Amino acid sequence: MFARETQFLKGVVAMDGLPAADRPEVCFAGRSNVGKSTLINALTGRRALARASNTPGRTQEINFFEIPDGPYLVDLPGYGFANAPVAVVGAWQRLLKSYLSGRQSLRRAFVLIDARHGVKAVDEEILALLDRSAVTFQAVLTKADKVKASEREKMLQQVRGKLSAHPAAYPEIVLTSSETGLGIDTLRGIIADLSAE
Ligand code: GDP
Repeated sequence: MFARETQFLKGVVAMDGLPAADRPEVCFAGRSNVGKSTLINALTGRRALARASNTPGRTQEINFFEIPDGPYLVDLPGYGFANAPVAVVGAWQRLLKSYLSGRQSLRRAFVLIDARHGVKAVDEEILALLDRSAVTFQAVLTKADKVKASEREKMLQQVRGKLSAHPAAYPEIVLTSSETGLGIDTLRGIIADLSAE
């Protein structure tokens, strides 16, 4: 499925801009700088498909990528900017809430967590929103290459502990590195399976 070239479809700023929910989709969420763009690029094998949105206050879009004859990959705006204007945060939260609670074709949300830092307070808000929206989410640890093998198990324990409080959490955690390729094929397989359901 990932052998076909993924294309950027559109950036959406309001619910009426969403493409028709006529195929399965999975979405990606995470604190800004967690490695979300890099991971989407690694999954699709395209170096500059998704771009980091590292400017607080910049228009926050939900970006849709289309795998030919496959699912949509949906890139949610990064959260946790220290200086984002309140109005921007408010508008983004409303769009995100509407999207998560109303999207029939959404099979799973992948919540990206930096393997060095684990689940932070800033992540809890989206986890709670996913619970309320009854969207199953799966934690994907990023930048595993930056964590010593001996410390990985400890971090997995921390994340497992935090996830146990969330009814919408999927138990399996995926450890990835876009640098070494660790976990990328595993994640592709999970997405392919979800799209076939
Ligand atoms: P985004 O804001 O979540 O889209 O984050 P980016 O994808 O732009 O990544 C933020 C920074 O982390 C960039 O400097 C990336 O090169 C770096 N990065 C992303 N993934 C990895 C990874 O797996 N390993 C390492 N070592 N660095 C990574």
